[in-house]
Amino acid sequence: MQNNTQEPMEPSNQFCPNSMCSARGQIGADNIIIHDRKRQRYRCKHCRKTFSQRRGTMFEGLRKPTELIVIVVTLLSYGCPLQAIVHAFGLDERTVASWRDRAGTHCQQVHQAVVETGQLDLVHVQVDEIRVKGCKMIPWMGLAMMVSTRLWLAGTVSLTRDSTLADCLMQQVRRCSQAMRALLVCTDGWAAYVRRVGVYEIPVRHGRGREPGPLGQELTRRGNSKATVACS
Ligand SMILES: [Zn+2]
Repeated sequence: MQNNTQEPMEPSNQFCPNSMCSARGQIGADNIIIHDRKRQRYRCKHCRKTFSQRRGTMFEGLRKPTELIVIVVTLLSYGCPLQAIVHAFGLDERTVASWRDRAGTHCQQVHQAVVETGQLDLVHVQVDEIRVKGCKMIPWMGLAMMVSTRLWLAGTVSLTRDSTLADCLMQQVRRCSQAMRALLVCTDGWAAYVRRVGVYEIPVRHGRGREPGPLGQELTRRGNSKATVACS
């Protein structure tokens, strides 16, 4: 695949990434101009430094077309085998693996910068873990979702389903939540959560069968425990 199409350049959406510049990080300050359209580089009028259109993204330093990288990462995120991508696009296995790792790191940074900022009035969070089949291992993936918006708040992978996994998830949820808000956390009844979240009211319901709760049956078949916690 050849890089025939260039991404459109828009200086007003850019900011100077130079940490020594007085105008660093400011969007719409009119200090960024297009430096080189062919090489897709901008220039800051304050510090006169140039930077790539891909600066600060997972594409930084990569030579392959953006569309190809986006397609490959999308396929990986939907579970397409790495070997299938290697053969379909004629890519090196290590290249595909490094794009996967770059995408994961960048997504984590975006999540921390945008979601884990203590701004959300969560009210009700659903937490559960699933066993994931990997290469020569079966790890656990823990997930937490804000019920009203279906926003994924937290996700963590661990080789063991233990208190460390529960801690990691609940810490992520706390970083998303506004301070001093009452929070309802629904889990599958696993005691690790109950011990970790500072619960003062447990449990409302146990058992099998259909639950009237909105997300209970979507995330677990083992019945739900409900716990009210104070998030601070
Ligand atoms: Zn600058």
